[in-house]
Amino acid sequence: MPIAGDSSTTTARTNGQAGEWLNRYRDRWRWDDAFPATHCVDCYPGNCPYKVYVRDGKVVAEEQAATFKVIDPTVPDLNPMGCQKGAAWSQMLYSPERVLHPLKRAGERGDANWEQVTWDQALTEIADHMLDAIEEVGPEAIIKEGTPGEGGLLTSFPFGRLIELVGGLSTDVNAVINDFSTGIYLTYGKFDPASSIDDFFHSEFILYTHMNPVYTQISAYHYTAEARYNGAEVILVAPDCSPSHTHADYFVPIKPGTDAALGLSISQVLIEEGLYEAPFVKEQTDLPILIRLDTRRFLRESDLKDGGRVDQFYVWDTEQRQITPAPLATLDYGAVDPALEGSYSAELKDGRRVEVVPAFELLKERLVDYTPEKAHEMCDVNPDTIRRLARKLAGKRGTIFCGGTSFKYYHSDLMVRAYLLVLGLTGNWGRKGTGPGEWSVAGFDGPFIFGGKQKAGLEETQRILDMRETVINLFHDQDPTRTEEMNHIEMMRAMAPAMQMVPPAFFWYYHCGFADNWNRREWNDPTMQREFDEYFNESLDRGWWPNARPGSDQPPRVYFEVGGNAMRRTRGGQNQLLSSLWPKLKCAVTVDWRMQTTGLLSDYFLPVAHHFEKIAFMFPTPQLMNLTFSDKAVEPPPDVKDEVEIAVLLAEKIAERAKARGLTEYADSRGVARRLDDLVDRYTVNGAFRDSETIAREWVQDSAASGNFDADFNLDALREKGYQRFKSWGIGAMAKSQAADIKDDETHTAFRWHVENKVPYPTLTRRAQFYIDHEWFLEAGEELPCHKDNPAQGGDYPFVMTSGHNRWSVHSMNIVSKVLLQTHRGKPNIVMNPDDAARLGIEDDEDVEITNDMGVFISPVKLSPGVRPGQVVSYNGWEPYQYRTWKGASDVETGMVKWLHFAGGEGHLRYWALQWQPVPFDRGIRVNVSKID
Ligand code: SF4
Repeated sequence: MPIAGDSSTTTARTNGQAGEWLNRYRDRWRWDDAFPATHCVDCYPGNCPYKVYVRDGKVVAEEQAATFKVIDPTVPDLNPMGCQKGAAWSQMLYSPERVLHPLKRAGERGDANWEQVTWDQALTEIADHMLDAIEEVGPEAIIKEGTPGEGGLLTSFPFGRLIELVGGLSTDVNAVINDFSTGIYLTYGKFDPASSIDDFFHSEFILYTHMNPVYTQISAYHYTAEARYNGAEVILVAPDCSPSHTHADYFVPIKPGTDAALGLSISQVLIEEGLYEAPFVKEQTDLPILIRLDTRRFLRESDLKDGGRVDQFYVWDTEQRQITPAPLATLDYGAVDPALEGSYSAELKDGRRVEVVPAFELLKERLVDYTPEKAHEMCDVNPDTIRRLARKLAGKRGTIFCGGTSFKYYHSDLMVRAYLLVLGLTGNWGRKGTGPGEWSVAGFDGPFIFGGKQKAGLEETQRILDMRETVINLFHDQDPTRTEEMNHIEMMRAMAPAMQMVPPAFFWYYHCGFADNWNRREWNDPTMQREFDEYFNESLDRGWWPNARPGSDQPPRVYFEVGGNAMRRTRGGQNQLLSSLWPKLKCAVTVDWRMQTTGLLSDYFLPVAHHFEKIAFMFPTPQLMNLTFSDKAVEPPPDVKDEVEIAVLLAEKIAERAKARGLTEYADSRGVARRLDDLVDRYTVNGAFRDSETIAREWVQDSAASGNFDADFNLDALREKGYQRFKSWGIGAMAKSQAADIKDDETHTAFRWHVENKVPYPTLTRRAQFYIDHEWFLEAGEELPCHKDNPAQGGDYPFVMTSGHNRWSVHSMNIVSKVLLQTHRGKPNIVMNPDDAARLGIEDDEDVEITNDMGVFISPVKLSPGVRPGQVVSYNGWEPYQYRTWKGASDVETGMVKWLHFAGGEGHLRYWALQWQPVPFDRGIRVNVSKID
């Protein structure tokens, strides 16, 4: 690592051979300049501050900056943050995967026959395809894959904005990558409250499930170790004996996909043994809310009187012995002590009397099926272990961290709801060292304010902030009992139908062939009572998805992949997309700095600058609490541009070509008029923003204006330091979802407004909601969490394929880095149990076929006794072209969605950006593994 300054400060001793060696070594690390950097890629918490060192115009090294300040002297600081991918980042800068000129397909798609073209030719032809699509189908025929934007906010934003202005669509990133936890959302009405990573230090227990933090949280894992020094116990629940288990105090092996049974059984013990925190349960959850036994739905004010609210619910007041309204504007029941148990009678508006019980009573009834002995039959966890876990968690402060794998099971919602029930019963959120863990974005309002700007400058910023305030006040006036958080969410919901970002379920259904998969009975939950299409069509007929675009009559024609890799990531992979979506496309464009599988199959490849060749921001996360900045350290290759530059050129080309064919104005499918003659002015805000530096400056300035930072903070100060801690979360709905103030000298604990200030949650009942009384949830028997077996997705095959990130792929960008490949076997694999392998005659490192009804891929096997018999683990992130037949694990994934997630129309079951929507699953896929003849 660079240890001295530039060469003028590196005077070495020259006494003999050692001196010469020293001089050579020092010369190797000589550098001319150093720049702040981070890696703008989808790793959590990510945003690790680095320093990049440049000599003679080339990056020669990078190292962890380790410059974060101590926040709380009693808590270890964040330094140094980093991982091996970050340490090797610049290797890819000069790798053969770099594309150095715009390319156009010269043969069939995917046959690697390219011609080098000029930017003018590439952008002219792409612009023409876009105009053709508008004229043939409408602007919705132009679609941009919603990816995390490997390259940060200045990668995804420029193209997203351009496609929005012409009326095209972007798919919601949270469904595309499926990092959306339906279980967290169903419970809290938001999926993203996330405490900072240093808050872990306060935990007395940390339960990891569906997670292998030693691999996936390298930069933050030290907090788990430090929490142990502070007295915490670490519990790892996992089907396989992952490398994290050696750092855990308890390893609980579990049958894949059965966590709901475990969570419910722990809850059963907590209740049976009286170990739950009743005051917390009564105040913070919906469990005291009364349910009508005749309908199994909440007792509502509209049941009791004409004109009554449908969202006014009731509890039984144990003091006054009467039914009383659950307050709407606060969680504080005041003098009322709501009952958790018992059976009561309510008189309806028509004079009938019905029996009502607190939801807690129905929960107890359900948990009868989850005694430790019964749960053991479902999840394989020993009953004594379940009891021991329940007693261990009771009365302690702790967190249950449901990792990303938990979102990717068919019944992930049930699993997560069951774990959250454990947290609810033990009073474990809103207090230091507690809560569930999630990803989130907050603390950088500039990019969001920018979208509304009609001119540059702070006066315009203030206009937008004032306008926003006015709209929020209107929502408040509609219902003064709503909280500030609810008003922000309602505003997002109101905007959703007009937004060009759409939940992609409809794109997949109509245009990517998933209608066939989703309608396969045998791949669905066997308890589903009707055909998939009945639910799908009902959800549309009842208007639950007003932004269900593109419709069946809007076939995609132009497809942009900007910084992502749909052919690798999409469940079903090439098997799914090449046969369904690709034939519909007249033009597929990949925008990236390196050749990857989607690029190989595209019609045009537009090469962009690598991270260290442009300025960039990773999206900031509450886990880290800081905005970090990645500066331009070196010039990009001469025929390579950054995304802003390309998008401006493309806007100019669209306007020019549209004028030539006389296409000035058109309407999108919602009747919104779109103009192209002033496209460049609108895109650049009348010429004010034509480059990334100017946009970045405006974003930082506007974030300061909105309160994220001190009012005088700017890009220069950020560049100097490399990062800045947030002063406030800001104005977005996801920011409000943190439900906590930022304190200068404290770790961040989400949910504090709810627990300390008794502020209601943005759910139907305004409490953490374990009972979902939507008619579909009742039909499914999932009004309360329960365990259901993972469906046989992929067919009736003997192995269950699970996944996760491997040590080298918490993101996939460096998966082909030569340096990283040299740290392992250098190729993909599937991991399987040696007994299974011996039975099938398979040896370590042998190529095998993995097959199911979706397809086949060939992979070397890695044998490990840590993997359960009957399980194979295919760690993800590998490029399909790294496999022998250029097909990978995604090619046997089915991409099933759960029919229940099309439910909508009431309470918090309504879409807003990144939130409630159907998402595809890829864990627990059934496969066969066999020797190759
Ligand atoms: Fe940190 Fe991600 Fe960079 Fe690794 S790749 S050093 S986790 S930002």
